[in-house]
Amino acid sequence: MKAKEILKGMSPYKPGKQIEEVKKEYGLDKIVKLASNENPFGFSPQVNKQLPKLIKQLEKYPDGYAAALRKKTADFLNVKEDQLIFGNGSDEIVQIICRTFLEAGANTVMAAPTFPQYKHNALIEGAEVREVPLLNGRHDLSTMLEQVDENTRVLWLCTPNNPTGVHLSAKEIEHVLNNCPSHVLIVMDEAYYEYMEAEDAFDSLSALNQYENLLVLRTFSKAYGLAGLRIGYGVGSPEIVSTLEPAREPFNTSTIAQAAAILALDDQEFIIETTKENAVNKRKLMEFLDENSLDYYPSEANFVLVHLPLSGDVMFEHLLSKGFIVRSGEALGLPNSIRLTIGKKEDMEIIQSEIKERIIGITK
Ligand SMILES: *Cc1c(COP(=O)(O)O)cnc(C)c1O
Repeated sequence: MKAKEILKGMSPYKPGKQIEEVKKEYGLDKIVKLASNENPFGFSPQVNKQLPKLIKQLEKYPDGYAAALRKKTADFLNVKEDQLIFGNGSDEIVQIICRTFLEAGANTVMAAPTFPQYKHNALIEGAEVREVPLLNGRHDLSTMLEQVDENTRVLWLCTPNNPTGVHLSAKEIEHVLNNCPSHVLIVMDEAYYEYMEAEDAFDSLSALNQYENLLVLRTFSKAYGLAGLRIGYGVGSPEIVSTLEPAREPFNTSTIAQAAAILALDDQEFIIETTKENAVNKRKLMEFLDENSLDYYPSEANFVLVHLPLSGDVMFEHLLSKGFIVRSGEALGLPNSIRLTIGKKEDMEIIQSEIKERIIGITK
């Protein structure tokens, strides 16, 4: 048997530790997972209330066109229905983009580190991956533009960037849109859009009218709290969407996910309240980091990349033994750091004191 040569050097995605696994390993009753940027407040109670109704008719295939969710989302975003493509998480949209645009001889430009699925899927399609190191947690946009040539098919902008949390300003993105050749698809991954507060943020949806090579990715996994159901979407010109559609599986999003996403969109109160709480707890974490002279990137998302005077793996192990699962920077390409999802107030207070405990003696 002969698989694609490139797959020999690749490993499957390594997920964050699972809660049950850690409970057993450390004999703990309570585990707080702050590793995957999930919403600590769950998801809209409306979804919960209606769930029994959602699990009917499971013998039937879902609506492959996601018509009801499509209409709801188009109205909500004020875009046309044919500007939307839905995926089994926005992860799947990334895969569909790569299947559609990338192949041997083509290249794709992205920051490093950034969301790993861009590179992973591009490699499987046989494309050359041009990674441009971040500068201080930020995309180095001028070098990224320099890397674009006639064989570049896709340029990825992750804003706010995972794992650094740093966002790109409207001015910076406009510069890219105005200077990147129009044969390049520009993908703006806004997985953390709902968390953004910055006044200089880019209005990506309005820009779709002006730039036909722009595709925006959003998800129900983060602020909407529906990561377990797997649903996300892309918004772009009808031309881009119809180019992508043949590469999409016919029944890629489930009946339950579609129905839950509609209910979740209808409950904006949940989004407003939980993102507000996230912002308060994030600010408190930053104050704590300032007080303890720990460096971090200013984050516009629901996580913070914290720099440490010790290895991220060491801090990871320490926090794990105290019942907190975080993401070590080692695996993310930022060795002396951890990525911390903003959790509930009481959990943040405990984890902050655990972090402090572990670094005392190193910094003094
Ligand atoms: C979490 C995340 C996604 C993927 O989310 P899905 O669950 O697949 O919708 C996409 N991009 C970034 C930057 C993320 O952090």
